[in-house]
Amino acid sequence: MKPEVLLSRIRIVLCRPSHPGNIGAAARAMKTMGLSDLRLVTPKQFPDPEADTRATGAVDLLERAKVTETLAEALQGTVLAVALSARRRDLGPPVGTPRETVARLLAAAAEGEVALVFGNETSGLANEEVLQCQAAVTIPTNPEFSSLNLGAAVQLLCYECRMAAFAGAAPLAGDGATPFASPPATHDEVEGFYGHLEAVMTTSGFFNPQQPGRLLPKLRRLFGRAGLEKDEVNILRGILSATQKPTGHGRKD
Ligand code: SAH
Repeated sequence: MKPEVLLSRIRIVLCRPSHPGNIGAAARAMKTMGLSDLRLVTPKQFPDPEADTRATGAVDLLERAKVTETLAEALQGTVLAVALSARRRDLGPPVGTPRETVARLLAAAAEGEVALVFGNETSGLANEEVLQCQAAVTIPTNPEFSSLNLGAAVQLLCYECRMAAFAGAAPLAGDGATPFASPPATHDEVEGFYGHLEAVMTTSGFFNPQQPGRLLPKLRRLFGRAGLEKDEVNILRGILSATQKPTGHGRKD
């Protein structure tokens, strides 16, 4: 099934949201990640200009949002509902991380509609709301400050949904290319750079070939991590060459 279709089957359900701004933020969070089905259970204030402002380009999701009286109505027809809760509960479905639970959610989305259920900004989800869900998620946080803003929690889960739908390889906006990237440096270009660096370090007195220690392997590890490009090797060698000249300005051959 196409990732876009899977994402279209995920409902974001906000239970009793108090702040219209958070509803707008949730709509924006959803649209950036390719989700579109927003459900609002007895929102305190909706529609509202503050929601429109915070949604910016995602007002269309607000216009299509379905408002219901109960969570049960919002979940009608879903094959899996997941509760988002910052608090540990004695009763309730097993609690997982966003990543593992979203994997399960996407598998279920291949079978039918699914839902992520979020609570009120102050009181969170009521126990009876959590109990209507078959799975629960707690976002790992600083134990001393564990409650995310509602819009931020929605953003994080929608991102996980997108990553899971595209099997960890969601295409970036644009073609994903860094505009100034150059092709990767070849093995011999990189070796040429290491040789050059070693020569400069030796003549400057920084490196003593008689007592090499671990300096060269450490530098190889550093540049190996960087994945050097052709242009970057040229820049680094240019810097080295400049230090080999008698003065910093102009050529004095
Ligand atoms: N004070 C509330 C938290 C409200 S935050 C409480 O104690 O439950 C609003 C909603 O954002 C929560 O109901 C939950 O759906 C979501 N949320 C915020 N932080 C979260 C976290 N660390 N893990 C999972 N969901 C979280």
